[in-house]
This record gives sequence, C-alpha cells and structure tokens, in this order.
Amino acid sequence: MTTQQSKGTALITGASTGIGAVYADRLARRGFDLILVARDQQKLDALAARLRKETGRAVSTLKADLTVAADLRTVERRLAEDSRITMLVNNAGVGATAPLLESKVEDLDRMISLNVIALTRLTHAAAPGFAARGNATIINIASIVAIAPEVLNGSYGGSKAYVLALTQSMHKELGDKIRVQAVLPGATSTAFWDVAGTPVQYLPQEIVMTAEDMVDAALAGLDQGEVVTIPSLPDLAEWERFNAARMEMATRLSRNTPAARYLTEKVQ
Ligand code: NAP
Repeated sequence: MTTQQSKGTALITGASTGIGAVYADRLARRGFDLILVARDQQKLDALAARLRKETGRAVSTLKADLTVAADLRTVERRLAEDSRITMLVNNAGVGATAPLLESKVEDLDRMISLNVIALTRLTHAAAPGFAARGNATIINIASIVAIAPEVLNGSYGGSKAYVLALTQSMHKELGDKIRVQAVLPGATSTAFWDVAGTPVQYLPQEIVMTAEDMVDAALAGLDQGEVVTIPSLPDLAEWERFNAARMEMATRLSRNTPAARYLTEKVQ
C-alpha cells in the first residue's frame, strides 16, 4: 500500500481485462486514482478491489457500453465535469481479422463505433478541461496496423490510422496544453484475438508480446516524451525517417497545377 500523493485521476476505457487492466495496475502504482470503464461489472469490481488493496489508491468503476449512445454520454459527462481527471486512456477497442468480403457489415459498424466514434467523443469531452487546467494527458491506443493496413482487416487498420492521425493532429493543435501519445502495439497476448476471430495461439509466438511488457514499454515512451510509441520497433530512427519523409512530402501535396505526369494533350 502507498501513501504517495495522488497524481489526479486516470479514466481508462476497456479496463476490465487485457491492455487496459495492465494500464490500471501500472497507473495506480504511479500514484493515480482510477475510474475503470468497461461493460463487465464483475471484472471491473475484482480489479478495483485488488488495486485498492495493493496500492491504496481510490478506484471507482463505471459500467458502460461505449457503442451505446446513453452510456457513452455518461462517460463524456464524467470527463467534462470531473476536474480531478488528469489522464484519459482511450484503450477500449475491438479488432477484426477477416478479409472485407468475409466480414459482416454490422461487425465493422460496431468496430468503427467503438474504435473511432467513442474515442473521438471521449477525447472531445475531455480536451477543453484538460487544456484549461494544463498538465493532463491523453493516451490513445492505436495499433501497428495504423501504418501497416495490409496486415489485418482493412477497416480495423483504417480505424487505427484514424487514431494515429487524430493524435498527431492534436499534438500539433494542442501539444502545448495537453500531452498526447498514440501507442502502436504489435500483436499482444490478450483476449482481443479471440474476439477478433483468430486466437493468439495461432500467431507465430516471436511476434507476440505480453500485455505487461507492452504497457511498460508504452509508459517508458510516454516518460521519454514520445508522441508516437511503437513498443516493438527496435530502431526508433526508422520511425523518425518515415515520419520525416511524410512531413516533408506534405509541403508538396497541394498545388495549383496537376503534376506533369497528368498533363496530357487536350483532344479538340
Ligand atoms: P481485450 O483484452 O479484448 O480488451 C478489450 C477491452 O475493451 C476490454 O476491457 C473490454 O471490456 C473493452 N470493451 C470491448 N468492447 C467494449 C464496449 N463496447 N464498450 C466498452 N468497453 C468495451 O483487448 P486488448 O488487446 O486489451 O485491446 C485493447 C486495445 O489495444 C484495443 O484498442 C485494441 O485495438 C488495441 N490493440 C490490441 C492489440 C493486440 O494484439 N491485443 C494490438 C494492437 C492494438 P468489456 O468486455 O468488459 O466491455
């Protein structure tokens, strides 16, 4: 148990299991009080009880299905109105491993609703208070498929590319007021893979990280001031070259004439 002074409250979505539950553990040990959000009340209660006992932090739970409008509004209100909240971890998310033609559109719709719409609404609810108070952090859990969409279902990759783009844009717009970080995990050993349709046992084990190692690396990246953290990538310079090439190309992406290769002779 700790008597350490509170660093404020972290609201973590998808905290009932997997990556979110590890964030809850690590952030409590770093001195944060917690609000744990997910649908499974029993799992939330069990985790909250353990963390209260082991860390002495205040841990509350908020049962919410973030694809249900009324539940989402409740969490938005909490973020907008509770000035003790100093961190939002947008972690709740689902994946899909089936190719487009074998996917049910209802599943894709639900995935986008959670991975994109809920994340956006929660970010939008938290941001004004965070910006006004300063010293607050938003961690957005994206995925390596944000930059490698060919690896899994393209809608999942697209949803995570959105998370990365939103984070990069927020860093540009609000970086002096709110600390933002996008985390791009590779395959991580959680129930995610069962839900997505391919249990993690079917993956080559050399590409699978534990959720504990993934979160510890992501928090180390946060401590190092990274806006984008890719826990598995051995050489940071590789990401920096990729990102620098993108930023440099951005200066030539909008012009008043088409590129020369598209200037064909007009037929009279
Ligand atoms: P997980 O073990 O399946 O956990 C997902 C969490 O999200 C659970 O706590 C679940 O809780 C919650 N959740 C799911 N649907 C929800 C809904 N409609 N409303 C509220 N909460 C909901 O998966 P994970 O691996 O920890 O995934 C966490 C994040 O990491 C996701 O954004 C995922 O895309 C990302 N990620 C995972 C991997 C990987 O390989 N595992 C790789 C890259 C990125 P309840 O069921 O209790 O609601």
